[in-house]
Amino acid sequence: MPYTEDDLLPLSALQHLLFCERQCALIHVERLWVENRFTAEGQVLHRQAHDGKPQTRDGVRITRGLPLSSFSLGLTGKADVVEFRPPADQTADDQATSLAGWLRERVALGLAGWTVTPIEYKRGSPKRNDCDRVQLCAQALCLEEMLSVHIEAGQLFYGEKRRRFDVPFDEQLRATTTEAAATLHAMFQSGTTPPAVREKKCDTCSLLPVCLPDAMSRGSASKHFDRQLKQSLAVTDG
Ligand code: SF4
Repeated sequence: MPYTEDDLLPLSALQHLLFCERQCALIHVERLWVENRFTAEGQVLHRQAHDGKPQTRDGVRITRGLPLSSFSLGLTGKADVVEFRPPADQTADDQATSLAGWLRERVALGLAGWTVTPIEYKRGSPKRNDCDRVQLCAQALCLEEMLSVHIEAGQLFYGEKRRRFDVPFDEQLRATTTEAAATLHAMFQSGTTPPAVREKKCDTCSLLPVCLPDAMSRGSASKHFDRQLKQSLAVTDG
């Protein structure tokens, strides 16, 4: 395994990395965070998805807030929901009430033939970019490493659509996810924040007020402040 426990980075950072590398560095390297309505709603949805004991419904064992890690990707995090569907000749035992207890027993008995499905909750609607799919695929890769299983697909639930969307974990998505994890580690090692590039996506970014992409795109920060100073002096002289 290339990584140790001390090297593990937050799995959720992949979503920020795929959206904007600068946003990822501002949040996870510089520790900047700006709360707005959308981020607050997202956190409420995640808390709701995480809360609650594991349960068995229609023969499927449902776990919430399952801790995840991968030493090959160097990631750690939590899965909102993971469903364990048994093969036709087995049932999902629901005697053990604790998540760790049930999982320990299940892994000891073996998960051959079980279908393991990670489900991630999002407040908005499906996105064109790979942010959410990569985050979900990273969860699946953690589960595969932890449980020695193969996971074909997961699901993304979008609050605005009120339904789940299937996400197949094909080779391309797995490669994109592995590459993103390596890029994340390189970013943390370098400790540098990429410069801002003003794009349409900045309009939906919670860090817009602190990132200042308009100022940065017109030149360096110092040039921006020089310009501001000249403007204010011109107003004073007038
Ligand atoms: S405002 Fe734009 S450049 Fe700045 S962090 Fe957000 S998306 Fe990235």
